[in-house]
Amino acid sequence: MSDSDTHDPTSLRTPIVAVLGHVDHGKTSLLDKIRGSAVIEGEAGAITQHIGATAVPLDVVSSIAGELVDPDDFDLPGLLFIDTPGHHSFTTLRSRGGALADIAILVVDVNDGFQPQTLEALDILRRSETPFIVAANKIDTVPGWNENENSPINDTYESQSDRVTSRLDEKLYEIIGNLSDEGFSADLYWRVQNFQRNVGVVPVSAMTGEGVPDLLAVMMGLSQRYMKEEMEIDVAGPGVGTVLEVKEEKGFGKTIDIVLYDGTIRADDTIVVGGQNDPIVTEVRALLQPRPLAEIRTESRFEKVDEVSAAAGIKVAAPELGDAMAGAPVRVVRDRDLDDVIDEVEAELADIAVDTEEQG
Ligand code: GDP
Repeated sequence: MSDSDTHDPTSLRTPIVAVLGHVDHGKTSLLDKIRGSAVIEGEAGAITQHIGATAVPLDVVSSIAGELVDPDDFDLPGLLFIDTPGHHSFTTLRSRGGALADIAILVVDVNDGFQPQTLEALDILRRSETPFIVAANKIDTVPGWNENENSPINDTYESQSDRVTSRLDEKLYEIIGNLSDEGFSADLYWRVQNFQRNVGVVPVSAMTGEGVPDLLAVMMGLSQRYMKEEMEIDVAGPGVGTVLEVKEEKGFGKTIDIVLYDGTIRADDTIVVGGQNDPIVTEVRALLQPRPLAEIRTESRFEKVDEVSAAAGIKVAAPELGDAMAGAPVRVVRDRDLDDVIDEVEAELADIAVDTEEQG
């Protein structure tokens, strides 16, 4: 991990982004497209593959989005996408006071429109009060569509026939109507003045990359405008995160993949992790991140790092993790009283249990 990642001079963290939507509407493809574009646009080392997440730094967002994102207008460091899309990961991944994701993309297939899991996702977003935008996906499937790879929507619209654009508009307004039936006032994103009051709909193609510049620009703009205060963290403070997954890892035993949303975790920290029974108190053995593909030879897929700061996805190897649970809180103790930290973890676990019951 580069110095700029671990010693962010500002105390603004990356917003955490989740992708939701009905099966086959293109969640995975959209994430792949964003990751792929980021790799192409990124200078060596600019894009960081995290454990369970992909960080797209502001300069990469800006090179993908072109004129739509002027980096000078932003001080948030970029966007962190959680790699596992879907409702299950969204509902199990919580942080104190709500969803782990700060912001969400709801993917809707323009041909298929609203489907059961679209409604379910809206329900989840409503309940967790998570700001979101709608990616109206697969615009390239409109008959007669003229593909313009990775182009902003405005540019690609201009190269379509009137018949094609009116057909697409019809489908987009259907989605806007569906959103309104569900109580969300929505509009095409370029008409939205206040993203806190209105849901922006962004036409995209996860296949051709059309509209992806717009999608990133809207996410970045929305975060900067409405979430900056929530992104202010004490980067140097003790790390706080959520367990994504508990995994057996060759040579390391049971490990936890976590998303850190506050502070810093170091390779010699004592941590408290929510467990199936009692909170687990343990010492970090190693912090692991994926080794860049180019460097994978016969050695481990992972490389050890000394510390990581929020927001980040990281694998933690430590003894006694057998009872750790996905969705459970993780807290670094550092120079605080151990019992206080255990109490905090227990309180968070109790909150999660209540929420799970409420959701049936
Ligand atoms: P998920 O279940 O929501 O993660 O959906 P996937 O990303 O797996 O996509 C489902 C199918 O739709 C796959 O066959 C994709 O190739 C296809 N697909 C996804 N996005 C697009 C798109 O923008 N255009 C077209 N033509 N196909 C797409």
